[in-house]
Amino acid sequence: MSARIIDGKAIAKAIRQQIQADIERMVARHGVRPGLAVILVGDNPASQVYVRGKIADCKEVGIRSELIKLPIDVTQAELLRRIDTLNADPSVHGVLVQLPLPAHIEIRSVLERIVIEKDVDGFQLYNVGGLITGDTVFPPCTPYGVQKLLDHEGIDVEGRNVVVVGASNIVGKPMAVMLLQRNATVTICHDKTRDLAQFTILADVLIVAAGVPRLIVPQMIRKGAVVIDVGINRLPDGRITGDVDFEGVRQKASYITPVPGGVGPMTRAMLLHNTLLSAERTLGEQPKSLKLSAL
Ligand code: NAP
Repeated sequence: MSARIIDGKAIAKAIRQQIQADIERMVARHGVRPGLAVILVGDNPASQVYVRGKIADCKEVGIRSELIKLPIDVTQAELLRRIDTLNADPSVHGVLVQLPLPAHIEIRSVLERIVIEKDVDGFQLYNVGGLITGDTVFPPCTPYGVQKLLDHEGIDVEGRNVVVVGASNIVGKPMAVMLLQRNATVTICHDKTRDLAQFTILADVLIVAAGVPRLIVPQMIRKGAVVIDVGINRLPDGRITGDVDFEGVRQKASYITPVPGGVGPMTRAMLLHNTLLSAERTLGEQPKSLKLSAL
């Protein structure tokens, strides 16, 4: 048996084409073009690559983007002031602060400063809390992208054992909660989990977001499992790899995502989606709060 490879790159492309068509309609009908502002503090090389990608994606689909580069020693007060300006600007529908931030800046204060209507990354506490109750303004992009991949492949998680490896605030935890909203039986594993394999082997759907290359090997998965690899790791030789032994696990799984070309492009596409959604809401075209079960 060899798993079906879920082509996140192609699925994300189709989503971008749909977004582009929706934006063209919005511009023609209302004269409004969605706008995304990205704040980049300092010159972290990885952050620069991510931000460049986000700006290029915006251009492709017709979102107006604004990149605000601030020096690494910018004061927290100045950063908050910049966010306030963007919050008040009606041509900006999404505000994103690229993480990580330098140590002298308190991340929570920064994320909380973004008004919820423009929190397209979904990291603001209101959005985080909304996940628990099943209402949210913007679902966080990576778990949202994974959910879209599962939907695209017709993989229904209701009543199934889903194991999420990784419990970060931006990937693992929201992923687990979103799947719980879909009535999956969810187990969350992390660095302190004893004998990871005893949990992963029970998974009908295994979602891995730990940041550890080859953490998941074939002996750890059930035959026919769906395996979603969120990890992005750079090997010493420069290659990018996920958290799953792709070649080994694909012989046993029913579905698997590659790295690169799996979850990554979906994360980027969901940021565009959330920005469009935000602009639609200013026109009264979408409900302010979304029921997660309807996503
Ligand atoms: P993070 O904040 O470092 O969290 C990693 C999580 O994995 C933590 O909960 C950690 O446990 C757990 N973990 C670490 N080693 C483990 C092990 N050996 N066994 C079990 N659990 C372990 O990272 P993140 O931001 O969630 O990102 C995770 C990975 O996904 C990274 O490779 C990142 O680059 C990638 N990522 C990809 C996308 C995408 O679009 N594809 C988006 C975001 C992140 P503790 O909590 O106990 O430390």
